[in-house]
Amino acid sequence: MAIATINPTTGVTEREFDPHTDAEIDKRIAHAHAAYRSMRATSYADRADWMRAAADILESELDEAARMLTTEMGKTIAQARAEVLKSAKAMRFYADNAEEFLTGRDLADPSAVNASAAYTRYEPLGVVLAIMPWNYPLWQVIRFAAPALMAGNAGLLKHASNVPQAALYLDTLFERGGFPTGAFRSLLIPARAVEAVLRDRRVAAATLTGSEPAGRSVASIAGSEVKHVVLELGGSDPFIVMPSADIDGAVATAVTSRTVNNGQACINAKRFIVHRDVYDEFVGKFTAAMAALRVGDPMDDATDVGPLATASGRDDIVELVEDALAKGAVATTGGAVTEGAGWFYPPTVLSGITPEMRLYAEEAFGPVASVYRVDSAAEAVEIANDTTFGLSSAVWTRDEDEEAYLVRSIDAGAVFINGMSISYPELPFGGIKDSGVGRELSVEGIREFCNLKSVWKA
Ligand code: NAP
Repeated sequence: MAIATINPTTGVTEREFDPHTDAEIDKRIAHAHAAYRSMRATSYADRADWMRAAADILESELDEAARMLTTEMGKTIAQARAEVLKSAKAMRFYADNAEEFLTGRDLADPSAVNASAAYTRYEPLGVVLAIMPWNYPLWQVIRFAAPALMAGNAGLLKHASNVPQAALYLDTLFERGGFPTGAFRSLLIPARAVEAVLRDRRVAAATLTGSEPAGRSVASIAGSEVKHVVLELGGSDPFIVMPSADIDGAVATAVTSRTVNNGQACINAKRFIVHRDVYDEFVGKFTAAMAALRVGDPMDDATDVGPLATASGRDDIVELVEDALAKGAVATTGGAVTEGAGWFYPPTVLSGITPEMRLYAEEAFGPVASVYRVDSAAEAVEIANDTTFGLSSAVWTRDEDEEAYLVRSIDAGAVFINGMSISYPELPFGGIKDSGVGRELSVEGIREFCNLKSVWKA
């Protein structure tokens, strides 16, 4: 794939970028490694000052940064602004909390290990390679970079090839805040160039947010090099609606949860599993609300759903839906590609999904909802867990016993009760099964790229 900004609203290539040469890649790795070494002499207070300054810069460039996101990947301008602000908030969160999160502990009874004192401390690991997707071009990177840099690591970013302007913006953001040159650098490289960087001895670890095949490839290379890796991969999150639920609230939230980011978030609710007592009401209202969404120019504040980010992403959605319809699924709204310029796809609700259909097992990365009718909470859990993914989930019920049963029975990294899955700097985020390994955000996220050192004193 070319490294280029191709506007998904028009399909027009706006800018192309030459990939970095081998010499440039080597220079950037060397910069990052030197910056990591120099940061070992800095304090949490120094790094917090730089991180807050970078957050201030990002916020002061809100409109310009938001327009860049919308131009490169098509999210609505309102959601692009929200992404910029959320990123700045996470930067400040780690500026405020990193030192406390990385405080080691004293052994209460050092004589138990024949020592006069024994304690642990968290130290940075070194240069961490971040391989990131286009769907939240700032947020996905910041949620790695803010904790990693506050811990004293350096970062190298291989961003998705279709968001090079976001990559170049991030290339200088932290340095503009005051971090040493090289503490965070972007590499403009294709996916095939990742392996050599990951195998470089100056690179200590890797994190990848993206698809399952990319995750498997990076994990196997990291494994062969005995390097730590965090993977945030795909999801096909269930959204369970039980008879005691607030149905209108569930419908409104279901629409947002399926279509936010034009339906291209790992934690979008994708499978709606509804108890038969409220199925007709839910599906009727859900279909009407999905059909009422305004699809169009993402730069327009009134637009709810913009285009999909890439032509191939839309092709994938078209194939998934056509396969389901050919095998007997019913589209209560949408289901056919929108003609005209840009990679638009209408909000779609499909019922009658069966295990023979690809949609049953595969992630729909676009505004396509699958609905399932079930007779019981146990059947809802069976369908919810009948997937190779395990990222997040949502359950709607006002019955406390049912809530407790659903929370403990769903195989996922998170359960949101009477709400929708959202990532917060304060809450750990990550999946199980094929949705990934490790956690980002919160205290657990910052500890992923640290050396937990035990210290023993005679
Ligand atoms: P992708 O194709 O896997 O791309 C993600 C990143 O990985 C890009 O930088 C890409 O570079 C690179 N890449 C692709 N194949 C690679 C390989 N074999 N080796 C090394 N790097 C490789 O994913 P996407 O289509 O952009 O993103 C959508 C997927 O990401 C969905 O499955 C979604 O659920 C998942 N996602 C997960 C989370 C989470 O937190 N769990 C968050 C957001 C998205 P190029 O662009 O150059 O190919």
